[in-house]
Amino acid sequence: MESFSEHYSSMCQAVNKHLPGADITTIDRAVEYAREKHKDQKRKDGSPYIIHPLAVAEIVAEMGLDIDAILGALLHDCIEDTDASFDEIARLFSPSVAELVEGVTKLTRANFSSTEEAQMENLRKMFMAMSKDIRVVLIKIADRLHNMRTMQYQTPEKQILKCRETMDIYAPLAHRLGMQKMKWELEDIALRYLDPTCYQDITSYLSAHKEKDEAFMRTIQDKISDRLTATGIANTAYGRIKHVYSIYRKMNAQGKTMDELYDIYAFRVIVDTIPDCYNVLGHIHDLFNPVPGRFKDYISTPKPNMYQSLHTTVIGSQGIPFEVQIRTWDMHETAEYGIAAHWKYKQGMGDGEEKDFEWVRRLLESQQDTDAEDYLNSMKIDMFDDEVFTFTPKGKIVPLPAGSTPIDFAYAIHSGVGNSLVGAKVNGRICNIDATLQNGDIVEIITSKAAKGPSRDWLGICKSNQARTKIKQWFKRERREENITHGRASFEGEMKRVGLPLAITVDPEVGPQLLKKLAFDSWDDMYAAIGYGGLTAVKAVGRIRDDINRALKLQNSEKQAALQAVKPDTAAKSNRHGVNGVVVEDIDSCMIKFAKCCTPVPGDGIIGFITKGFGVSVHRIDCPNAQNRDEPHQAARWVRVQWAEADDQPFDTTLELDCITRDGLLLDIVTTMTTARVRMHEINGKDLPGGRSVFTVRFEVKNVAELDAIRNKLLNIRDVTGTRRGQN
Ligand code: MN
Repeated sequence: MESFSEHYSSMCQAVNKHLPGADITTIDRAVEYAREKHKDQKRKDGSPYIIHPLAVAEIVAEMGLDIDAILGALLHDCIEDTDASFDEIARLFSPSVAELVEGVTKLTRANFSSTEEAQMENLRKMFMAMSKDIRVVLIKIADRLHNMRTMQYQTPEKQILKCRETMDIYAPLAHRLGMQKMKWELEDIALRYLDPTCYQDITSYLSAHKEKDEAFMRTIQDKISDRLTATGIANTAYGRIKHVYSIYRKMNAQGKTMDELYDIYAFRVIVDTIPDCYNVLGHIHDLFNPVPGRFKDYISTPKPNMYQSLHTTVIGSQGIPFEVQIRTWDMHETAEYGIAAHWKYKQGMGDGEEKDFEWVRRLLESQQDTDAEDYLNSMKIDMFDDEVFTFTPKGKIVPLPAGSTPIDFAYAIHSGVGNSLVGAKVNGRICNIDATLQNGDIVEIITSKAAKGPSRDWLGICKSNQARTKIKQWFKRERREENITHGRASFEGEMKRVGLPLAITVDPEVGPQLLKKLAFDSWDDMYAAIGYGGLTAVKAVGRIRDDINRALKLQNSEKQAALQAVKPDTAAKSNRHGVNGVVVEDIDSCMIKFAKCCTPVPGDGIIGFITKGFGVSVHRIDCPNAQNRDEPHQAARWVRVQWAEADDQPFDTTLELDCITRDGLLLDIVTTMTTARVRMHEINGKDLPGGRSVFTVRFEVKNVAELDAIRNKLLNIRDVTGTRRGQN
């Protein structure tokens, strides 16, 4: 039998701690109101009913929720169990408090127990959908937690029923909302009733080994703290045994007994800053041996429920593996209280919207290509509005916002299905694609390869933000591709007109500078702008013309200088004979091979590199691998080489072709090569974003003159926009 005053004062303590300055008189009014309403009711253990709302309010206060939520928790059973009404609560407290109470009542009345595993996710979704306000869900979870804590007073039938529901609905929801602490407690209590024997085995094993475990954890904990403190990192380090249900799951999954199960310890190091987290990780890996493959960085990549920490598993001095979680205090708060933690920020910041939506923004970062505002809308509506549950012909459940149409359904399956939608069958009968879908409808989408894509009217018909976003994206992309094609054509025309080589735009040295000058992130972006009419081709070329000419001049003089550097004196030449068509200065006869990275052919400026044991490797003078010839430890190994007198042997070389993707292009390239009687060894194509592609062709030529002739032929093919000597 528990007393009112004990519960009342510990609830007040929690409020004072987590919500300093809260209006205690309103809280007292709610306590008195609820106490009066519930005065004839008793808890199963015989104590006054008011104990329960007080305990729930205490949990809600500990989560850090606001005053309305605490009032809602105190009154949460009033509408369901007493003669209190929505209007009365709205009048005596506030409409928003009344709405919270009503929301919790709705969830209390709904039946969330089901025996079918497949339906669980939908029950959880319905649960979320029914609560327009996330605080309703949090109060309901607190309500369930207190009921679980006092489960021993229920009948065995009710215990099993409630515990099943807790495992299926409440614990996963707590997890989804990032509230680990609650999730663990819910799971452990549920397990105690669902598998009492196993629960007992685990807990008695743990208590029998308590001393040994604690000694082990203290040793490790001291070792960590001592090291961190010595290096000046402020830290809180502690060890714990993993919770009972997670040990239970490990035993079952690995088919092991407690004795065989090792990784039941977890250590936590909490520090002040993110850089400290990574420093701590370094120290941990220095102190203990890390287990390969077990390091996870949830700081740079947070879990969807906002969880952040570094995880690693290491092996202690006694050969016992244990997990270490490293996080900052902020991350710790979020890990313990999840979504509720963001109310705390809100209170600290007045009406600081900024911080409030930080977690939403974090979710957003993985959602590129979608407007932030669109996404916020879809969060609100798709998460909290009523849903209808429809099915594919194979029985897969597709939840949609109420009022959705076959269009929404199609886009929910896949954007490809939506974009090729031509009709729909609902429950086996053809119907309009703007028909409103009902719960339980079986929807079959009829698609066609010949479909022209979505129509603009669809934007007004569909109900889900998902469909709307995907349709908008389609229009944006369609137009963009058109714009890029048109823009590119006029840019190329203008370059040709003023006599500038188009290839300069893809030059790795010059291209990026030109883009910077034009203030675009990519050439496609600029082409799209020209195609769209935001910029004229004349203006674009004019802006970069001087830079291109300067770059060309520079490249030319560099080339000349490089060629000069390797030009052999003719006197020396006659004394030497070529090996494989190449003469190496100062070396009479040696093994020659042609570097695969740049595949030089006669006429190219070349240079040789004396390899260890494989003779001289011949590179093109402009090959990236031949650029650091001045490096002290390598300088001596570079030797001048030259092509021997004409000797008609063929050389392997590669060209890369920049192309606009189209059907038949490959055939055109092959035909051109065949007609020119070129012996081809290999051709590979690769698609690039924005409708571009690159073909790599490997073939035989005798010299640079022949290579240039082939290059010109290839450039004459429609949609081949440039060629490059292959470099790797
Ligand atoms: Mn309750």
